[in-house]
Amino acid sequence: MDIHTTDDAVTRRIKYFTDRERMLRENDLYFYNQPVEEIRGGARVLVRGREMGMYASYSYLGLIGHPRINKAAKEAVDKFGTGTNGVRTLAGTLTIHTELEETIAAFKHTEAAVTYSSGYATNLAVISTLMGRGDYVISDKLNHASIVDGCLMSGAEFRRFRHNDMEDLEKRLQQVPEGVAKMVVADAVFSMDGDVIDFPRVVELSKKYNAWLMMDEAHSVGVLGKTGRGIEEHFGLEGTVDIKMGTLSKTIPSVGGYVAGKKELVQYLRHASRAYIFSAAIPPAQAAAANEAFKVILDEPWRIEKLRQNADHFLAGLKEAGFDTMLSTTAIVPVLCDTDERAFALTRQCQHQDLFVLPVVSPAVPEGLARLRATVLASHEPKEIDYALGVIEKAGKEIGIIQ
Ligand SMILES: *Cc1c(COP(=O)(O)O)cnc(C)c1O
Repeated sequence: MDIHTTDDAVTRRIKYFTDRERMLRENDLYFYNQPVEEIRGGARVLVRGREMGMYASYSYLGLIGHPRINKAAKEAVDKFGTGTNGVRTLAGTLTIHTELEETIAAFKHTEAAVTYSSGYATNLAVISTLMGRGDYVISDKLNHASIVDGCLMSGAEFRRFRHNDMEDLEKRLQQVPEGVAKMVVADAVFSMDGDVIDFPRVVELSKKYNAWLMMDEAHSVGVLGKTGRGIEEHFGLEGTVDIKMGTLSKTIPSVGGYVAGKKELVQYLRHASRAYIFSAAIPPAQAAAANEAFKVILDEPWRIEKLRQNADHFLAGLKEAGFDTMLSTTAIVPVLCDTDERAFALTRQCQHQDLFVLPVVSPAVPEGLARLRATVLASHEPKEIDYALGVIEKAGKEIGIIQ
């Protein structure tokens, strides 16, 4: 079908997008999907032959390219090859998978863990397997899309509470009919705003109303807690989360997702979740890389400390320059620009001065809250951060975002 000769809703949707993209490209404002030619030492990348400072990576601890992790991946290829024999339940389970799951369980201080081929698939699988018609799943308004999709897919009653608003969460919990299964689910660190969930209150309310508690730790593992174990360690509330979900694609430089928790829960997911039963296992190199990465985090705690220092440095510099960084206290740093246009303009200036950083605009965030979303890494050096701050401040003034 030629999309130019029909005029249905699909065609219009595609055309609206195509026009917007063309407008951005014509004005040198399109910076998505840039091909990175090389990753150098964690915090620098090569793009079209130009070396740039990386401020859009989720490799918070700078573990991409770590020699121990690369070596583990290569050895796994030598031993197992590059693929699996199919799904985990049948011939796809390798010893490196069970080793990885034991490593995750030990890291998260749980009895067991189960892995999936992506974090996205993990959230879909877990929420839709545990929750069903008639149950209630209560989700923070700013939760990641994969959580939202999992909730919708589950067929459960889907209720959202105002972002990090514990009064609203309690109200939603009170509205659940007596005797009905319920789950509270939230990001530990929010991926757009960089703020941390009011975890002590969430724990308290989940207990009070007898709800299952699920935490998505995509941006908190390696970031929060003295040893990088995440939200429970950060607040000194070990053992309070029922379903500890995380990804292997951010701080852990691999791909995949996991859930850690009680043995029975994990065993149930292994036998009831469709993404486990009907989708192939994580490739051996990636499983081995992830397995080694958890060990590196424990062996090199200086990375967590350095990330903390770098995030504080970057946040303080932006605030001093007059930027609104919202409520971020982590390595995810929104630089509020108000309009989409300003966010694109700020991105262009940064990109032209060798900062690899990207904007988040509507509809990903509400209209008027467009921003640069910068991430800080343990592998940044203080002088690199100072350079980035200088570029952002100068551009911010020229565009009129700050005085
Ligand atoms: C990235 C992310 C995911 C998805 O993880 P992938 O491994 O990239 O599929 C899930 N939840 C949150 C909060 C994320 O930021």
